[in-house]
Amino acid sequence: MNDINFGGKVIWFTGLSGAGKTTLANEFQLFLKSKGLNTRILDGDDLRKGLNQGLGFSDNDRSENIRRAAEVAKLFLDSNFIVLCSFITPKNEMRNMAKSIIGEGNYIEVFVDCSIEECERRDVKGLYKKVREEKISDFTGISSDFDIPHNPDLILNTESNNLITCLEQLKILIGVN
Ligand code: ADP
Repeated sequence: MNDINFGGKVIWFTGLSGAGKTTLANEFQLFLKSKGLNTRILDGDDLRKGLNQGLGFSDNDRSENIRRAAEVAKLFLDSNFIVLCSFITPKNEMRNMAKSIIGEGNYIEVFVDCSIEECERRDVKGLYKKVREEKISDFTGISSDFDIPHNPDLILNTESNNLITCLEQLKILIGVN
């Protein structure tokens, strides 16, 4: 793994809604800040309220959502930030686009793996309930595809590992303790 002291990195969390992307990014940011590192979180839900307002959940809109997020991540990367990106990023081609915008050497892909059944059981934002009531369409994992990532740098299974264990693996991944 590259030494992060040589510059920033983008950690790209991909996974189903409710898998744990936001929780991991927030907790890991606290740890990185405690080490005096500059960090920035980019979260799909937040960006859709501003920069990405008006984009929906068609494949085209999802791609545009990721393209803009990756471009913003690159800006922070260029200022040597560790950027923690939480986006479902359902398709391999979208992940590849993010990687090519950010640059292969600075893009670290983390697959936040959790079964759809467990995500639905958690239903952190009440979205799965709405999907079952047919109030939401094109929902990843149910009515829209999620490709299993081809070659992530790390797989964190949040069903079989608790938060502390996942955070330990992230620390090892980027070489900060
Ligand atoms: P996402 O950002 O992927 O939509 P969230 O982070 O909003 O998901 O929600 C994930 C939920 O799963 C939270 O309620 C969190 O407390 C819970 N959870 C259980 N185990 C873990 C774990 N190992 N890592 C992260 N989250 C976990």
